[in-house]
Amino acid sequence: MSDIALLPQVEAFLGRHHALFIDGRYVESQGSQTLDVINPATGRVIAQVSDATGGDIDAAVESSRRGFKQWSQAAPAVRGLVLLKLADLLERHREELAQIETCQSGKIIQISRAFEVDQAAHFLRYYAGWATKINGETITPSLPSFAGERYTAFTLREPVGVVVGIVPWNFSTMIAIWKLASALVTGCSIIIKPSEFTPLTILRVAELAIEAGLPAGALNVLTGGGQVGKGLIEHPGTNKVSFTGSVPTGIAVGRAAMGAGLTRATLELGGKNSAGFLRDIDTEVAVNGIIEAGFLHSGQICAAAERFFVHRSQIEPIMDSLAQRLGKLNIGSPLDERTEFGPVTHRQHQQKLGEFFVRARAQNNTIIHGGKLMEGPGCYVEPTIIFANRRDDALLNEETFGPIATFFPYDSEEELLDLMNDTPYGLSASLWTNDLGKALRMVPAIEAGTVWVNMHTLLDPAVPFGGSKSSGIGREFGSAFIDDYTELKSVMIRY
Ligand code: NDP
Repeated sequence: MSDIALLPQVEAFLGRHHALFIDGRYVESQGSQTLDVINPATGRVIAQVSDATGGDIDAAVESSRRGFKQWSQAAPAVRGLVLLKLADLLERHREELAQIETCQSGKIIQISRAFEVDQAAHFLRYYAGWATKINGETITPSLPSFAGERYTAFTLREPVGVVVGIVPWNFSTMIAIWKLASALVTGCSIIIKPSEFTPLTILRVAELAIEAGLPAGALNVLTGGGQVGKGLIEHPGTNKVSFTGSVPTGIAVGRAAMGAGLTRATLELGGKNSAGFLRDIDTEVAVNGIIEAGFLHSGQICAAAERFFVHRSQIEPIMDSLAQRLGKLNIGSPLDERTEFGPVTHRQHQQKLGEFFVRARAQNNTIIHGGKLMEGPGCYVEPTIIFANRRDDALLNEETFGPIATFFPYDSEEELLDLMNDTPYGLSASLWTNDLGKALRMVPAIEAGTVWVNMHTLLDPAVPFGGSKSSGIGREFGSAFIDDYTELKSVMIRY
């Protein structure tokens, strides 16, 4: 087992002094506070970033207002072209970006390459295609004429203004790309606030965006803690927040946005997603599905399943077979191309997962596999299978955001649906069966923004994504994002 060598440009980037990215260039923070960026695989500090101050927020917002003025006037074809060029640049710098991402997040290098770069480029190109297709409509007014006059009407789709994009640490580049692509293609400018745990890759992407032809101020990046996001939302110069993160922070963000003069808000939040396996499913298919649904990127995926419902007659063989598979996973350094399972992204998260294990033992749940933090300087957590005692058990109801699959048996399909929906959250769910007719009849009864059948977690830019119930407000992707990033202006004419 050995790590790939870091590219010289990655070493150089990590060794740099990282300032804030405002107005198309690096600008020193007005304060002196910095935040350490720690490689979770080694526990070592790999860089420091600025913790933006109130003055930095003002400077970024001023720049973004100027950027908005200019960018909103760019022809739609030009906007599309810049996004296409940025996609090309991401691919040209694929290995560099993937390595920076792996060093800051502990994501295994194959996932950094495939999702943070390749998928991000796919999303950019998809959004670029919308640039020339965002239109209002013509409307025939409905009321009768008073004295022979006539009326006609049409709508305009206008960019909402300066967007604040607040991004979590699990997919720091891809999620930032979803937000900046939605904003830029509709003619908005955007300020990205990355998570303090993973602020580096997006700084490099911002440089590439300028190289792609984006005018200064259309994209700014402010690093820092949660208070930077709050300050941006509450700033009178920002018009919308697009937030991805946890449910409690999302609720605070929603409140702050409404309190700041009804700043528009889309909230993509977490949840506790279910996967239901119908009785006809083969054990091997189920086990592959559970690994896909629950263990990719050590379970740190908002749409990942954490509650697994299996027919009582099959639950033991499926859990046993899963335990055998997890036991063979190659756990190791995320920079080793043979590693299949890496660390979680930061120490606090590792400790939070450790507390779930303590609670599982205290509640007499059966730990079928794993259930421990791994020793050493890295933030490793064993891939874990838990059999819950009761349906109101914490492990079955609270988001862990880690590699913990909790199982519960069901007896009838009616009970399966009841269990799957018995959560305040509704981001995603999956059904696994060979009986497509049955699946299609069950899908409408499942309370989730996305329901997958015989798959889990794959997001496609053409397919809307977002949460129902407490998992959020609004949808990304498809054409659905256009409503959230534009205001609809109605124009009525008498003649
Ligand atoms: P958090 O909610 O803790 O943080 C998300 C972002 O919000 C970070 O950039 C954070 O900054 C910032 N933030 C923190 N406090 C505030 C505040 N008061 N006002 C404004 N911004 C603030 O989530 P995590 O980063 O821990 O990410 C994990 C969560 O994200 C999980 O619950 C997961 O389910 C969810 N998620 C949802 C997705 C979806 O599409 N629905 C996709 C991916 C993740 P800082 O980190 O610097 O504190």
